[in-house]
Amino acid sequence: MKLVAGHLYPDYLNIYADRGNIAVLARRAAWRGIDLDYRTISLGEALRPGEHDLLYVGGGQDREQALIAPDLAARAEPIRAAVDGGAALLAVCGGYQLLGRFYRDRAGAELSGVGLFPHETIAGERRMIGDVLLECELEPGRRRTLAGFENHAGRTLLDPGGEPLGRVVAGFGNDGESGFEGCRVLRAIGTYLHGPLLPRNPWLADWLLAQALAHRSGGGPPELEPLADELEAEAHEVSAGRARTRGGRFD
Ligand code: GLN
Repeated sequence: MKLVAGHLYPDYLNIYADRGNIAVLARRAAWRGIDLDYRTISLGEALRPGEHDLLYVGGGQDREQALIAPDLAARAEPIRAAVDGGAALLAVCGGYQLLGRFYRDRAGAELSGVGLFPHETIAGERRMIGDVLLECELEPGRRRTLAGFENHAGRTLLDPGGEPLGRVVAGFGNDGESGFEGCRVLRAIGTYLHGPLLPRNPWLADWLLAQALAHRSGGGPPELEPLADELEAEAHEVSAGRARTRGGRFD
């Protein structure tokens, strides 16, 4: 079995080891006998809808976001077509912001976005930094937690009716006020959680792989064979513990 993964702007949007998320997806796929065919897509390179079962974009400082934003906005159609077509997607922080309608940075410059996610982001004076803990329910009735690290000036305002990724247990999340974090549209997930996110939250890595497999097969997401995740569970608990004790402080 093979899955095709497309990594948008790995040379610009990659802070807090965000590229580690791809390493986790590739390894957890390989442990199930699935080959993750990894392809990068950077400035001016083509993105063909339907080519990728899974798309990924990491985070970045305002400067890097400004360098890629026009190129990314020009891909709004193929990215939306890919997600409407059932591809899985994970977008982290700066990438998450630019998959909304726009990101207005601290200098007031407005970077147009892709408009995949029903939100807009406006940078505030103070950065929201620290460990974060969320409660999520991507599958009805199956509550799980996500633990990670956030560092952003942007306040992301989800449209009324927009589906968040989770409820904030500790930390700031989208805007430090709504009590929600991230966003979900079909099989696309956006979040502020760095870390990288997936090593300490293997269930989300498996959820993304299952969605990508569903895209490839045209069927439903398969139940993946469980893996021995003791180390990952320990990393999750350490991160969750930090969030509970010190999440949510302004810089
Ligand atoms: N530059 C954006 C902000 O400050 C995103 C930062 C990031 O990706 N960590 O909000």
